[in-house]
Amino acid sequence: MSIRLAGKELEQIIKNIEANGGDAEELKGALPKPTIREKEKESEQEYLGRALASVEIKQGICPCCQAEGELYTGVCKKCFSEWALACRKE
Ligand SMILES: [Zn+2]
Repeated sequence: MSIRLAGKELEQIIKNIEANGGDAEELKGALPKPTIREKEKESEQEYLGRALASVEIKQGICPCCQAEGELYTGVCKKCFSEWALACRKE
């Protein structure tokens, strides 16, 4: 279900994670799934805050853009944010 919502961005991120020997299963199930009503009243920043708060944070290097620092389900905050917002629009 997550894969259908996320589309190409998710596929690419998962490929990158798995190419680096990471576990993409966590990422596949990570995003909160807002109802249509929540989508209408929740801003992107609020949604992002909720998404970020719900995932495990580790230190490391992002497999997508090679940024070093905090990783959210295996990718950096920037990549996670782009992906989460892209998923949300669908
Ligand atoms: Zn990144």
